[in-house]
Amino acid sequence: MVWSSRIEQALTARREADGWRLRRRVEHNSVREITLEGLTYRHFSSNDYLGLSQHPAVIAAWQQGAAEAGAGAGASGHVTGYSRHHAQLEEQLADWLGYKRALLFISGFAANQAVIHLLAEKQDRILADKLAHASLLDAASHSPATLRRFAHNQPESLAKLLATPPEGGTLVVTEGVFSMDGDSAQLAALAEQTRRANGWLLVDDAHGIGVCGEQGRGSCWQQGVKPELLIVTFGKGFGVSGAALLCDDATADYVEQFSRHLIYSTAMPPAQCCALLAALQQIQQGDALRERLNSHIARFRAGAADLPWQLMPSNSAIQPLIVGENSAALALSQRLAQAGYWVSAIRPPTVPPGTARLRITLTAAHHHDDIDRLLEALYDAAG
Ligand code: PMP
Repeated sequence: MVWSSRIEQALTARREADGWRLRRRVEHNSVREITLEGLTYRHFSSNDYLGLSQHPAVIAAWQQGAAEAGAGAGASGHVTGYSRHHAQLEEQLADWLGYKRALLFISGFAANQAVIHLLAEKQDRILADKLAHASLLDAASHSPATLRRFAHNQPESLAKLLATPPEGGTLVVTEGVFSMDGDSAQLAALAEQTRRANGWLLVDDAHGIGVCGEQGRGSCWQQGVKPELLIVTFGKGFGVSGAALLCDDATADYVEQFSRHLIYSTAMPPAQCCALLAALQQIQQGDALRERLNSHIARFRAGAADLPWQLMPSNSAIQPLIVGENSAALALSQRLAQAGYWVSAIRPPTVPPGTARLRITLTAAHHHDDIDRLLEALYDAAG
């Protein structure tokens, strides 16, 4: 009965810490609006930063792809699941981002697990930003390599860890735009330090790709950095789901030959690749969408300066307000819901203890007026 008591204990602790997480049933989600339990809210909790999940060209491409190629891939890519649509998407991604190769994964979580599991051996060390995503930190801590974490977004802290000579390889791991704080990694400094230490840099740009940089090429392109390993995910700026690893030929071959996550997993549906190709085209031509999003970000930050909650140093679509206690963050989220705004409260362990927050996300689908009304509701809630 070890499992039953363990489960009961964990659930009780979560309830008592105001940490219980609900998966609410969404009835309708148009990026700008969301309907749950019969009520419609202005939506400020989507990672669909450009609104592409609703784009007619993306939807049509998925429908046409399914009509042509069926609903699913039918097998792993190493058996018969790799189609011309997969190949075309990989080629276009590699070309767009300036890499030799791209390899598709079913999710960003899987891609991060795959790459770290494959590369990290016992003698190696992984040096990760303290706020790197759970998929990166989990993979690193479950790997045989040594995991050390450096202070969030502080290259000086990384420098201290790098000062100890490694036994094996050094893999430096960061996000491009941090998912819960919204700030951008100092990629040039990280890349330079990693190069000097003869290591490799892995950047997970889940929240930057599509949204920043020329043609939406993301944080690395924007900062003039080309990490050895770039992970891009498709559930945010692309409005779909899935992910890709961008790397050189030999690394791609190594992953293709040895990654159990890739070999023993059904390939992404070909129709999804069609949708992603259409989303990629919208992103490449998406300057107007990005300008619109950036104007919302500037408007929100200017308007939020006098709120009593800490605004983070973020120029991205992610604009968290740090509230502190779990119960206070939940109460604020509920207060906003009563006023017609859907903004999720994010609590530990997703964020450090004592930093529960409202994670406000802005999208190109919003109108200027939406930002102004949200700010009014926040000032009302502040009393
Ligand atoms: N990396 C980061 C930085 C993320 O925010 C997320 C999603 N929360 C992931 C990876 C996982 O990506 P996916 O949703 O495609 O599994």
